[in-house]
Amino acid sequence: VSGAADDLVEVLAGIVGAAAVLTASDDLAYYGSDRCRGGWPVAPRCIVLPRTVEQVQAVVSACAAAGAAIVPSGGRTGLVGAATATAGEVVVSLERMHRILEVDATGLTLRCEAGVTVEAVQRAAAEVGLMYPVDFAAKGTAQIGGSIATNAGGVRVLRYGSTRAWVLGLDVVVASGELLQLGGALVKDNTGYDLRQLFVGSEGTLGIVVGAVLRLCPPPAATVVALCAVPDEARLLDLFAHVRGGGVTCSAFECFDAGALRAVLAHKRLASGPFNPPSPQHALVEFEVAAPGDAMLQAVQDRVAELLADAHEDGLVSDAALAGTPQQARDLWSLREDVSESLHRHRPHKSDVTLPIARLAEFVPAWRELVAARLPGAVPVIFGHIGDGNLHLNLLAPPDEDPAAWHARCEAFDAEAYALVGRFAGSVSAEHGIGLLKREHLHHTRSAAQVELMRAIKRALDPRGLFNPGKIFAPA
Ligand code: ZN
Repeated sequence: VSGAADDLVEVLAGIVGAAAVLTASDDLAYYGSDRCRGGWPVAPRCIVLPRTVEQVQAVVSACAAAGAAIVPSGGRTGLVGAATATAGEVVVSLERMHRILEVDATGLTLRCEAGVTVEAVQRAAAEVGLMYPVDFAAKGTAQIGGSIATNAGGVRVLRYGSTRAWVLGLDVVVASGELLQLGGALVKDNTGYDLRQLFVGSEGTLGIVVGAVLRLCPPPAATVVALCAVPDEARLLDLFAHVRGGGVTCSAFECFDAGALRAVLAHKRLASGPFNPPSPQHALVEFEVAAPGDAMLQAVQDRVAELLADAHEDGLVSDAALAGTPQQARDLWSLREDVSESLHRHRPHKSDVTLPIARLAEFVPAWRELVAARLPGAVPVIFGHIGDGNLHLNLLAPPDEDPAAWHARCEAFDAEAYALVGRFAGSVSAEHGIGLLKREHLHHTRSAAQVELMRAIKRALDPRGLFNPGKIFAPA
């Protein structure tokens, strides 16, 4: 650590207090990276834990004056290295700014600081009979600020859209140290460029989200959940078309294959799965009951049962389980929601892509062929939000494969797999973002002109490259 670095740590301690600047090696490792292990170094200079917006502003100004780059940091549940500090950056963690400031049950808004978890926002909304519908497995750890910076998606995008659709107002500290208050409680505000949306999904490269006003909505009166055994991906899509046109509101249409289910059953120490014989693919489908009352619930349940019976007759579904109680619904959901965590210990090579729905059935066999040709012995595991065209494509290493060799083979494979996604007019990132992991593949989805415009925006807002350098695209 150079003298200059020590000076900055002292200045930062003067702003937030010495106890809120961490330099111990275990703290640097803990706060220095997200859930992506991409092979790059984890090497922050220090961790700063401000408690107020004014402190964040002063920290940004101090870092700018010292020429020290900043990595904004939330719950670090991201999967592309966007919250990883690789080269002596100052990590600014928002975790001590976790207050819910106001819930407006009439205006259907919630105002909070950036460090509050997504789950805490959901709970605060539920306390007044409302819902924050952005929902994903990591919600207990993921923070609102990070979920905005990464435009988090999840399991109900099909019905409610991703985080972008729920951000009404945004407080952001920019490179000058200024606080921008973008939007707020107004539903209608048609006053030029939408600067607020520019920061949603910017992965911490344009500023630090310090607070937000989120939209809320009334929750459905009840939901009906079904798990279907489906022979293959093509019929998964036919089933989606079938239930979508069935006259009931579908709020989630998720999939997971036999390998994903095996991992979940092993993780939960369950001896057997929901279907016998085991099914190659599964659809977890959730429907909404709009109005309260047993008769309404019964009507939706009856309609869903009819739809599934028709699907069975047409060969789209070989078996199905309809949850009869809220607990059964949670149990069925957990088979899907626990996939990612259950796979974690196998250290899968992950990718998150979207395809136009109409081309998914063609894409999956092409991808499987590529896996068989380039990574013989690897086990593909497919799950995801198929109703959004969003697949999580996971590859498990063959047994006894050397980790370094596997990593190298996967990197070479990725170049071809993302090119395949590009040929099918898909996106190299559906909901995980670009970060460090995918920036070399961005060109399959964004044209050179688009990337240059994004760079121009970056230069305009952050001319000295203070915020999260190297994320989304390599520094110019
Ligand atoms: Zn997902």
